[in-house]
Amino acid sequence: MAESFESARALILEKVSILPAESIPLVEAGGRILSSALSALCDLPSWDNSAMDGFAVRSQDCGTDQPLRIDGYIPAGASAEGIQVKPGTAVRIMTGAPVPMGCDTIVPVEETQENGDQVFIKGAVQVGDHIRKRGEDVKQGEEVLAAGSILLPAGINILAAFGYSQVAVIRRPRVAILSTGDELVEPGDPLGPGQIINSNAYSLAAAIREVGAEPLLLGIARDDHESLKEKLTAGLKADVLITTAGVSMGDRDLVCEVLQELKVERLFWKIDIKPGRPTAFSFKDGTPVFSLPGNPVSSMVTFEEFVRPALLKMMGHSRLIKPYVKARLKENFSKKPGRVQFLRVRVVDTGEHLLASSSGDQNTGILSTMLRANGIAVLPAERGRFEAGEELSIHLIGELDSPY
Ligand code: AMP
Ligand code: MG
Repeated sequence: MAESFESARALILEKVSILPAESIPLVEAGGRILSSALSALCDLPSWDNSAMDGFAVRSQDCGTDQPLRIDGYIPAGASAEGIQVKPGTAVRIMTGAPVPMGCDTIVPVEETQENGDQVFIKGAVQVGDHIRKRGEDVKQGEEVLAAGSILLPAGINILAAFGYSQVAVIRRPRVAILSTGDELVEPGDPLGPGQIINSNAYSLAAAIREVGAEPLLLGIARDDHESLKEKLTAGLKADVLITTAGVSMGDRDLVCEVLQELKVERLFWKIDIKPGRPTAFSFKDGTPVFSLPGNPVSSMVTFEEFVRPALLKMMGHSRLIKPYVKARLKENFSKKPGRVQFLRVRVVDTGEHLLASSSGDQNTGILSTMLRANGIAVLPAERGRFEAGEELSIHLIGELDSPY
């Protein structure tokens, strides 16, 4: 019996598990998931410092018509040790420089007038103006990033600010890609009669990279037991194995058979979806095996809907399923009820709402319809007719067309 779209995905997500952590240089950690919480190693800022280029003063000396004598200079990077703001004086100070003793206020240079070694403060000042207080941003020991956080630029910045040069993140899965078929040759090799190029491996490698995992191209297995056994055995050493083709009902569709000979436990074969029905999912010693159909459109769509969420789970992400965007259907569309259909669509942002139209002939063999699509509308199994104007749930796979 075929799995439903939802049950197949749920089963996959239940079976795959998060990979162990590894320590990597902070500079390479963008987009990775932290394996444990990180805390502030010191106060941030670590000492009171000036938020402006200007003068460090005593607030009680300001607000008179008396100028202050300029006595001292603290540029950024200098120490304020031994410098004190004495009554009636001001110390020239740059942004980021430590605040000297005696000073309770910084006056920005724009609010002053200089005359030789004297400075006149033009306006009123308030105690504490333009001083960044020690620890006002983050206190030492405070948790700054929780386990499971994705490292975005701001997170990287704060970790760098505390001096973390290495971080522990969840390992990226190595994903083996095995193309199967007697008809396949690699791009660049001469094409004989009846042969086609193994294009699936390349789109899958790109999709795997895009998710943040590491593709591993295993080449082509022929449609015979020997060849499949050898290549599948190699593939099972990776964190994930993806095969394409050889899972339908043809007499040379041997992938499922050989996986069983290799004692790979099959969880399902066939999902009530279109395209992609013959997809199989199995498991051996912790390695999930996705057997995707050979048709390029089917392999890309099933990767997007089933493999991608699984890879995200292995990498430690918490949001596994892409959020749906809602778009209005431009023209009526009909399908046979019974299976979820992945409709390849072009989504346009009209400025008021999103509008989706079929990106072309929806036959599984039409690759150009996929090329033109920037979304996959997920049409519920039980429905048959879809009316123009109704809202569809769409997984974006490309940039939105925009009127801007
Ligand atoms: P199969 O699942 O073996 O019946 O293959 C379905 C269709 O996909 C056939 O037309 C194959 O030639 C094609 N196909 C299989 N593998 C690949 C591949 N790696 N790259 C491009 N097309 C493929
Ligand atoms: Mg085949």
